[in-house]
Amino acid sequence: MRGFSTRAIHAGQEPDPTTGSVIVPIHATSTFAQDGVGGTRGGYEYSRTGNPTRTALQECLAALEGGRHAVAFASGMAASDTLLRATVRPGDHLVIPHDAYGGTFRLVDKVLTGWGVEYTPVDLADLDALRAAIRPGRTKLIWCETPTNPLLGIADIAALADVARSAGARLVVDNTFASPYLQTPLALGADVVLHSTTKYIGGHSDVVGGALVTGDDALAEQLRFLQNAVGAVPGPFDAWLTLRGAKTLAVRMERHSDNAELVAQMLTAHPRVEKVLYPGLAEHPGHEVAAKQMRRFGGMVSFLVAGGREAALRVCAATRIFTLAESLGGVESLIEHPGQMTHASVAGSALEVPDSLVRLSVGIEDVDDLVEDLRQALDAAAS
Ligand SMILES: *Cc1c(COP(=O)(O)O)cnc(C)c1O
Repeated sequence: MRGFSTRAIHAGQEPDPTTGSVIVPIHATSTFAQDGVGGTRGGYEYSRTGNPTRTALQECLAALEGGRHAVAFASGMAASDTLLRATVRPGDHLVIPHDAYGGTFRLVDKVLTGWGVEYTPVDLADLDALRAAIRPGRTKLIWCETPTNPLLGIADIAALADVARSAGARLVVDNTFASPYLQTPLALGADVVLHSTTKYIGGHSDVVGGALVTGDDALAEQLRFLQNAVGAVPGPFDAWLTLRGAKTLAVRMERHSDNAELVAQMLTAHPRVEKVLYPGLAEHPGHEVAAKQMRRFGGMVSFLVAGGREAALRVCAATRIFTLAESLGGVESLIEHPGQMTHASVAGSALEVPDSLVRLSVGIEDVDDLVEDLRQALDAAAS
């Protein structure tokens, strides 16, 4: 198999056969001329069903995750919704992480339960708790995030795959935080990988998208059927931007990881910080598992600020380079307060996050500037 960056730059991206265009064109068309009824040129008839720019993205994502099939969507949530439609039915049960992404929790808790599907939130770092939550014959899906959002918890993907297999359930790994450069769950036994391509794969905070990748031919067929039948597809411009972002994923992830390691070190030493959550730190409870299944530890760092909620909000308001915003995975550094922003939808539930928590998406700017910005924000928040 070719190396990661070679795949990122070339998979699904042969020069255009008619013009030689080195870059995959943006096929901004809703429909395709047919040479006689049913005589499509290359299988394309209508852009909800298939579009060449989207095909290029899907082939590239499949190659990056080492799966035979990738199916792209208009958002990560559309990918999640489609996967749930394909895998659970009324009366079924699924397990979700106890600190699942807020949008995933909302989809399961507010939408899916209305269709008679039950769920149990579990700390997936605790395999005994997972086994206890399985309802034999009814649990059809184990939903994993690792690292988790926003608490940076780590789950052992290979161990979860064993539990899923013996329970007759599928294992999906939301690989948004790691990206396929740092971690490839299919190789560890997962059945499906989910991405919000809005984040690291797109990488430039300029497009929303999602994808599912699998090596399971039958599941892929169902996913493709639903992609067309439900219709939450990315437009050709979105597919093109995502594909452009993916080309530089490896170099960006190296730099995100370099910068996050140094930021985590500075925070660990800062008196206003109570605790730093970063799987690259030796004291992180998931450090060994993360080191086993990830190439490096990525760009997401969370920390608890001494002084509680008010102090955390002051830190978020005091940075000058880190922009106060939701989302993550872009080249620019972002800071946010999960309790009131990305994870407001889990307030009051079992998934509520500490209110002194601050989450960073450490970008690829010069790390000295980032460290200095956080230091001044912490100092300002203390006074
Ligand atoms: C953002 C995100 C999603 C949802 O993706 P959208 O593209 O915003 O719909 C799902 N999982 C994780 C871990 C995310 O960060």
